Amino acid sequence: MKIVFLGTGSVILTGRNQAGILMEIGKKKLLFDCGAGVAVSLAKIGYTPYEIDYLFMTHFHPDHSIDFVTLVTDRGFRKRTLKVYGPIGLKKFTKIFYTKLYPELDSFLKCFEYLELNEVKKNFELNEREFKISSSPTKHTEFSLAYRIETKNKVILYSGDTGECEEVINLGKNVDIAILECSFPSKKVAVTPNHLYPEACGRMAKRMNAKKLVLMHFFPSCEKKEREILSRVKKFFDGEVVLAKDGIEMIVE
Ligand SMILES: [Zn+2]
Ligand SMILES: [Zn+2]
Repeated sequence: MKIVFLGTGSVILTGRNQAGILMEIGKKKLLFDCGAGVAVSLAKIGYTPYEIDYLFMTHFHPDHSIDFVTLVTDRGFRKRTLKVYGPIGLKKFTKIFYTKLYPELDSFLKCFEYLELNEVKKNFELNEREFKISSSPTKHTEFSLAYRIETKNKVILYSGDTGECEEVINLGKNVDIAILECSFPSKKVAVTPNHLYPEACGRMAKRMNAKKLVLMHFFPSCEKKEREILSRVKKFFDGEVVLAKDGIEMIVE
């Protein structure tokens, strides 16, 4: 499989796109979150956004969801179905966009005809031929989600936004790669308990028994603090740690 980090920033803008990860598993293309910049970046690196088969949203904060509208509107013109999975509230969230904010799009493009909306509830499991996806709640918003992606021989965890929590640790047990948010460079500057900082990422990866840890979702306070972030993570986790940048690719065989 191939993982492409399309957006590694967060809600306060830096030079990074907001959250978004592409996973190519066999012929299937899965997108996880779609904050600002993600849809256009897909096209820039050679993907046609309408070829995305699945979109998995972790929650509806704009830095994870605002390009949903971009993708869906594109679908209306392309006439190809997008399977969308997201927290409870996904149907309401989508409806507000296309019946309240942009009603002309719905009546003209019939976007809903090209959407398969699935709200992820407790004990969710999606079993496809090429992969299996399961989910857990995270400590961020009422219905926010993390996802576990299993292929024939590899397992990946994507946390979305979360504070340090048992549910995400349990979901990520023995993963090959844990992709965690790391909003702040230290606990001292963490403005909320519902996000992670390096020591918390290290502890979570250690307790998951993850082989590799990839960090993303950086607030501006993280920029130019790579060495400090790495040394704080490594106090708790001695596996490989990567601070993701927009556009990096990982081939996971
Ligand atoms: Zn976020
Ligand atoms: Zn959030």
